Amino acid sequence: MELTKLGIKELQDGYKKGDFTKEEVLNSYIENIEKEDGKINAYITKTFELAKKNLNRDGLLSGIPLSLKDNISVKDVRLTCGSKILENYESPYDADVTKKVLEAGGLILGKVNMDEFAMGATTRSSYYGATKNPLDKTLIPGGSSGGSAASVAGEMAVVSVGTDTGGSTRQPASYCGIVGIKPTYGTISRYGISTMANTFDSPGTMGKTVEDATILLKALKGRSIKDATSIENKSIDEVDFDKLDSNYLKGKNIAIPKVYLDLDDERIESEFKTAIEILEDLGAKINYVDMKYLKNVIETYHILVNGEISSNMARFDGIIYGKRTTDDYETIEEMFKKTRGEGFGQEVKKRIMIGTQILSLDLAEDYYYKALKVRGLIKSEMDKVLEDNMFILSPTSPILPIKLDSQMTPVEIYKADMFTIPANMAGCPSLSVPMNKKGGLSVGIQFTGRRMKDNEILNSAYLFERSKNEL
Ligand code: GLN
Repeated sequence: MELTKLGIKELQDGYKKGDFTKEEVLNSYIENIEKEDGKINAYITKTFELAKKNLNRDGLLSGIPLSLKDNISVKDVRLTCGSKILENYESPYDADVTKKVLEAGGLILGKVNMDEFAMGATTRSSYYGATKNPLDKTLIPGGSSGGSAASVAGEMAVVSVGTDTGGSTRQPASYCGIVGIKPTYGTISRYGISTMANTFDSPGTMGKTVEDATILLKALKGRSIKDATSIENKSIDEVDFDKLDSNYLKGKNIAIPKVYLDLDDERIESEFKTAIEILEDLGAKINYVDMKYLKNVIETYHILVNGEISSNMARFDGIIYGKRTTDDYETIEEMFKKTRGEGFGQEVKKRIMIGTQILSLDLAEDYYYKALKVRGLIKSEMDKVLEDNMFILSPTSPILPIKLDSQMTPVEIYKADMFTIPANMAGCPSLSVPMNKKGGLSVGIQFTGRRMKDNEILNSAYLFERSKNEL
């Protein structure tokens, strides 16, 4: 039996029956990482000893080998955020997510690659080199949680924890043919996770199936006194796939924004049609809706996110966190400049500069505050559509994963986040579920639902996945 092909339930059933042990499963994963990761570059830091120490814990993730994106703190383990500036920085404490994983019996294999400080959609901006897509090593795995997606797709972790500010769990999940979930904003505590943009960031879960990613979500959710924006999202506790009625989608309304029908990629267009048919066969009613503000999401997102980024990145100044320049300096300002100049990569610097600019007194009114208003409009338009519809359906990305050496411009890459960003704007739960693989790759389909009703998209995606597997 190939142990690295099994899902969470199959593994835990096997432990109970004595078919294999947790040590055997952990060792298979360690072997796979040692054998395969040289070609993929998913892991930045391996923590096999930490995994071994947790073998006797029982809980939802008991005996499940998993990976954490490298912006999540694990006490005394390197936290690089994919950046040179944090190359040798070790976290002084565990993130809430880490604590929950350990308490649930999860086996942390290591910290995985990401775009620098989660800014990107390719995992090419990591200081630790690009990650390759296990489905086709000439392609990007997506990003910014590309290491998370590649570790799961490459059978180097059962599940992985990523983060999602504008699509970073769903888009790499879609490019690597796995499931990615971003729950309602606040469902998982952000304490101990490096912040990109506070009002958008959400930790998310990734796995080969809706069930695996949901079990991880159940283990991680919960209000924390250390994150004032965290909430108790009970809808997720209600999810029980074993008891789910197969008629769950009968008569339910699902919205497709008309602006999303203009797809350039034929493969994505045809898979999207198949997805619609599957949902109709399950009894859902598709409504094509007008949503005029969706066309503004990219610009609005980049103004708001860069504003938040520029203030969050200010803490990396060579004093508390990470590296300080080893060059000479005369004043403290010079030290800041040199440290940041040497420590940050291109994309991070660009976003800090744009953010600082649009937050400056004379421009904030024209850019930042205007963008906040547009965010409000996008959110109300989505809420309106979600009053009558259980979720909004779209492909996860308008393009297939690009080549690792593709020369696509940054703006073209930003534009490809058009389907994932709205959920972060409105704090809505959203997930990506893959269609069947053809020619090695699959297209991700996205369900964006109502806040605090994550159960609706989880249940729907579970039934959708099951029907799709029968095709
Ligand atoms: N690709 C988006 C960006 O570059 C989203 C990143 C994310 O979700 N962390 O900002």
